[in-house]
Amino acid sequence: MAIIETGIPRVNTPGGREMFDCHAHLWDPAAGFPWIKPGSPHCRAFGPGDLAAAGAGLGLSGTVLVEASRGDAGETLALRDLRRRQPELVAGYVGNLHVSEAAALRTLLTEPDPPNGMRIGGAEWAATPAEARALVPMLAGAGLVLELNLHRHALRTAAETAAEYPELTVVVDHLGNPADLDEWRQELQDAATVPNVVVKLSGLLTQPHGTPAIVREVLDAVGTDRCVAGSDWPICLPRGSRADSLTRATDALTPAERDQVLVGTPRRVYRLAG
Ligand SMILES: [Zn+2]
Repeated sequence: MAIIETGIPRVNTPGGREMFDCHAHLWDPAAGFPWIKPGSPHCRAFGPGDLAAAGAGLGLSGTVLVEASRGDAGETLALRDLRRRQPELVAGYVGNLHVSEAAALRTLLTEPDPPNGMRIGGAEWAATPAEARALVPMLAGAGLVLELNLHRHALRTAAETAAEYPELTVVVDHLGNPADLDEWRQELQDAATVPNVVVKLSGLLTQPHGTPAIVREVLDAVGTDRCVAGSDWPICLPRGSRADSLTRATDALTPAERDQVLVGTPRRVYRLAG
């Protein structure tokens, strides 16, 4: 894909090489999304046109859309619909495991354009719905990504779950949401020993420890074939643009590392076409 010079700061992808943004959201507060409070900077609709505009000039090959806790299974179907209608924009999508029922998930996985992953989030693993956790073996059987956005012990949970289901790929959002760095480093080392744990270099602008140095720690621990990157747009917007967020996530990478983290690993992990 050619780079279009728009004056927007371009993520440093040498030679206009392709890249995937593996973490962005779309929402319309009128359709649900109870976490979006009136008056917050996130309280407006973000649609595919906004996504395309925010990515203009970045040399993007596509985006993996991630569910945004609308609170119903229809959000996953809406993401599928977007993937079908605009495959050049939406390379893949990650649905919401919380609100999925076994029969509906089974159907979703067998119909055309299944999700590339399903996400579960919360304070910690034990605080997530047992019904959602019970669906993890189905994801493993289908070869889908289980995506984790846990505030505590995300990497430890990923290591334990990935070890239990070797055919499952577990993607940990936002570097595992590091808080206590000593504890996070220990969990990172533990997760590094389980090959089917993948770390997402995302949310850097909104993380208390979102620095290139911490990205380097992740890369050194798990390697580029187990890292993908994402902007977390439009969550990032109060702190910076989509380009700013992707730049923060990838500043520490060499050109060769960029190719792997931004293209090779996303294609493999999320089974992206092309
Ligand atoms: Zn997000």
